[in-house]
Amino acid sequence: MLKLEDSYRHKGQRRELVKIIRKKGIKDEAVLDAINTLPRHFFFDTALGSHAYEDKAFPIGEGQTISQPYTVAFQTELLQIKPGDKVLEIGTGSGYQGSILHILGAEVHTIEYQKKLFDRTKKFLNKLGIHLHFYFGDGSQGLPSQAPFDKILVTAGAPVVPNSLLKQLKVGGILVIPVGDRNTQKMLRLTKKSATKITQEEFSNFAFVPLLGSEGWK
Ligand code: SAM
Repeated sequence: MLKLEDSYRHKGQRRELVKIIRKKGIKDEAVLDAINTLPRHFFFDTALGSHAYEDKAFPIGEGQTISQPYTVAFQTELLQIKPGDKVLEIGTGSGYQGSILHILGAEVHTIEYQKKLFDRTKKFLNKLGIHLHFYFGDGSQGLPSQAPFDKILVTAGAPVVPNSLLKQLKVGGILVIPVGDRNTQKMLRLTKKSATKITQEEFSNFAFVPLLGSEGWK
């Protein structure tokens, strides 16, 4: 287990962050508790650590970002995680979102396309004692070897909903994915009602880094 300091100051900053997210409309108490529990500053470089409790996205290297806490909370709330859910996260990034899903009791399978980020985050989370299932590769095709999933979460902006992801959802399963152009995407929640019936709900706009790969941006 890696020893990192989580001071009273950090805990106070986290409570303030939770208040902000609640005011912005997040209602799921389990999600808010998870944000309150997980020290976000652990996921930052020391140089940016003092910004960890601002409700903003920040760079994590390799041209990628740790998502804004409100965005993490919003996507997680849409997923309606139940303990034991088998979840695929596409875009491991810093590992923060995956850790929130883990705290909520999900079995998390997470895939990252950038090798350096994959290596760094896998090593770091294992040291932290947060055991997710890590995969390196193109998650725009999902993860057929581990399918089907109860929930699939895409944490990068897609041009369209990849067909492979819908195929890899269980009946009753939920896919949360931002879809749009390279700058702005609408958050979508797709629910697989039966083998042939999918319903789609649309939410507000967000700005994610692009989902690359064979069923993402080329
Ligand atoms: N969930 C992350 C976190 O908690 O820090 C934030 C993810 S960041 C906004 C988006 C991530 O998606 C980046 O790390 C990027 O490398 C990754 N990504 C982009 N295209 C991908 C693909 N086809 N497969 C897997 N990961 C991809």
